Amino acid sequence: MIIGITGTPGTGKTSVTKLLEKDPFYQVIHLNELIKEEKLYSEVDTERDCVVADMDLVYDRVLELQDKSYPVTIVDSHLSHHIADIVIVLRTSPEKLKDRLNKRKYSFEKVQENLEAEALDIILAEAVDWCEKVFELDTTGGTVEGTSKDIGRIIKGLRRGETEELEQEFTPGSVDWSDYFFD
Ligand code: ADP
Ligand code: MN
Repeated sequence: MIIGITGTPGTGKTSVTKLLEKDPFYQVIHLNELIKEEKLYSEVDTERDCVVADMDLVYDRVLELQDKSYPVTIVDSHLSHHIADIVIVLRTSPEKLKDRLNKRKYSFEKVQENLEAEALDIILAEAVDWCEKVFELDTTGGTVEGTSKDIGRIIKGLRRGETEELEQEFTPGSVDWSDYFFD
C-alpha cells in the first residue's frame, strides 16, 4: 500500500513523516530530497527557485524503492498525489502558513504564491481529481505528534476497510480558507 502525504509547502508533511518513519510499520520516502539527489527533473526553474520533476521517472523510481517488507509505504511530497492513489492532504490556514513560510529562505513572491495556492485549495482539488481516495487533515492548531497520530488512524482504518467512517471524519473540502481573500 502506497499512501501520499501531500499539501502546500509548510503544511507539515516532512515533520510528520519524520515522526512516522520511526515506526517500523512504515517505509517513508521523502520525495523532494530523492528528486534532487537523483536529479529526477527535466528542468530547473531559476525564476521560481525550484525544479520541474519528471513525474514518469519519479513514479518508476518510487516503485523500485518500495520495500514490500513494510506494510505501508508513505511518500512525503507536495507531488505525491501525482503518483499515489490514496492521499492525505495536509491543510493550514494561510495566516498560520505565512508564519511558517516566513521562517524559510523563501522570497516574498514564493511565500505569496504558496499562501494563495493554499487559500484556493489547489492541491486538494488536484488530489480529488486524480486520486481514488482523498482525506483532508487540518494542521493549523494541532501538534506534529497529534497530526501523525491522525495519519496513523487513517492508515490503520483503511487497512481494516473502514473507509466510510474515515471519509466522514476527514472529508475533503472540510476546511475553507476563503476568508483569506476578504481581509
Ligand atoms: P512541509 O514538509 O509540508 O513543507 P514542514 O514539516 O517542513 O512542512 O514544516 C512544517 C512546520 O510546521 C514545522 O516547523 C512544524 O514543526 C510546524 N507544525 C506546527 N504544527 C504542526 C502540525 N500539527 N503538523 C505538522 N507540522 C506542524
Ligand atoms: Mn517537506
